[in-house]
Amino acid sequence: MSTTNWQTIKVCWCDHVSKDVGLEANVVFPADILPDEPRVIGHRCSEAFACNLDGRASCIWAGTNPTFDPFSAV
Ligand code: SF4
Repeated sequence: MSTTNWQTIKVCWCDHVSKDVGLEANVVFPADILPDEPRVIGHRCSEAFACNLDGRASCIWAGTNPTFDPFSAV
C-alpha cells in the first residue's frame, strides 16, 4: 500500500507573517513491492491557511498573488 506525507523542502523568512515558513511537498511513496520512485504530487506553504485568513493579498502559495513567490530566492 502506498503512503503519503508532507516534507519540508525549503524554509525562508516571510514578511507577511513575520516568521520563518516552510515550503512543503506532498510525497507519495509506492508500495514496497513496486519499483516506482517516490513522486511529488503537490506543494503548500506551512502557513498558507492562516495567511489567507487576514484578507490581504500575499503570494502564489496562498493563491492570492501569482506574481510573488517568497521561496524563489532560497
Ligand atoms: S503563503 Fe506566502 S505570504 Fe503566506 S505565509 Fe506562506 S510564504 Fe508567506
